[in-house]
Amino acid sequence: MQGLCQCCGGVFEARRRDAKFCSDNCRKRARRKSEVAVSEHPPVTGLVEVVRQELRRAGKELTPAGQQALIVADRMTVPQETGSSISALSKELTALLALAVGKAAAPASTTDEVKAKRDEKRTRAQARSSAR
Ligand SMILES: [Zn+2]
Repeated sequence: MQGLCQCCGGVFEARRRDAKFCSDNCRKRARRKSEVAVSEHPPVTGLVEVVRQELRRAGKELTPAGQQALIVADRMTVPQETGSSISALSKELTALLALAVGKAAAPASTTDEVKAKRDEKRTRAQARSSAR
């Protein structure tokens, strides 16, 4: 009995009637493909719009910091940006938003730094234990 592989489209000799793939490789590839398809559509809709709403809610859309936050948010959505500049922009945006809506940025970022250091230590410890 012949089957049509749902991954590579090749014809193969199916041992079972419900066989969908010609090989384990194709089965794995198809599964991976469906996982990628899910992660390609994160539930985030337009960073700029979210920032604008946040600013509008605080009544700070038309302030210098608010306008800068929108520009930074807009730059973050440009796909050519590299990962490192995205994280720099994201810090900038967080600071500008905090400035614009009048929240104190300092305590939050200190907590983040402490948390980042703790996470880093944990990651290193895990790497060490898994190397053994
Ligand atoms: Zn195949």
